Amino acid sequence: MIQLYQPLNFMGFVYREIKQAVTDIEAMFKLLAEDPEIEDKPGAKPLDVREGTIRFEDVRFSYDPDRPILKGVSFEVPAGKTVAIVGPSGAGKSTISRLLYRFYDVGEGRVTIDGQDVRDVQQKTLRNAIGMVPQDTVLFNDTIRYNIRYGRWDATDEEIEQAAALAQIDPFIQMLPKGYDTEVGERGLKLSGGEKQRVAIARTILKGPPILILDEATSALDSYTEKEIQDALERVSEGRTTLVIAHRLSTIINADEIIVLSAGEVVERGHHSELLTQGGLYAGMWDRQREADEAREKLARTGEEG
Ligand code: ADP
Ligand code: MG
Repeated sequence: MIQLYQPLNFMGFVYREIKQAVTDIEAMFKLLAEDPEIEDKPGAKPLDVREGTIRFEDVRFSYDPDRPILKGVSFEVPAGKTVAIVGPSGAGKSTISRLLYRFYDVGEGRVTIDGQDVRDVQQKTLRNAIGMVPQDTVLFNDTIRYNIRYGRWDATDEEIEQAAALAQIDPFIQMLPKGYDTEVGERGLKLSGGEKQRVAIARTILKGPPILILDEATSALDSYTEKEIQDALERVSEGRTTLVIAHRLSTIINADEIIVLSAGEVVERGHHSELLTQGGLYAGMWDRQREADEAREKLARTGEEG
């Protein structure tokens, strides 16, 4: 009995280890979302980022042939500037970020960085140049240190801690008994959505890419956490070409340009104040968010009193 039990128990251990490894691999593929059809052209050159200007030129794209998702989208993110994309859910905002990262190839038109079509350059160099902070960060089942170092493998512990400080997550990590050596994920500490996102921001700060894609969190973060994340994102985007997909319009009022996307088309564009004056889709979204915020504040106040 004992003889049987031991190997079974061992098998259980092996199974758990394998399952863990599979989870890690799944997480990795989620991070990379590799499409096997996206390959380097023979003789593809490394991407040469001189300034970091992004251009979408009349981009058309569909996942399924009979359902167009982007219907001729054009815009530019000048080097070092911040452009925000807003619009209803399903408009195609995240698709734009996927095309820039070349998870998929455009159907028509082109996406360029400093004049180089993303389809013509080595993917490795393209992805090295871009830092992506996704909406739902997937962390590896490993230590916090490992999860931040993933941004740049040769980073020193000191650099990791500096990045974490900039991302406003260092004080939280310092409070943990094992600090940066705390295991996260299924094996260890469960992090909240906001904490995970700040780990991803630290990772991106460490990577220090010239181009950033930020997909802001929609999840109901408390306003304190949201402010912390917003501050962290603003720091990381300073001086870098930044494409931000914004859910909370209050976070992008200072963007150099706001692109309003609806059903795969750019329907409005301009500065925050210009868009408010136009009284269109953006102005409507702004009013609704203001009303929702006010209602929430009122509710919070009532809660405090009662
Ligand atoms: P947004 O970020 O603006 O909410 P997305 O760019 O994620 O919108 O998606 C745009 C549309 O494309 C949605 O209708 C979505 O259902 C569809 N879509 C997204 N990803 C895929 C996919 N991998 N395969 C098929 N359809 C997809
Ligand atoms: Mg999206």
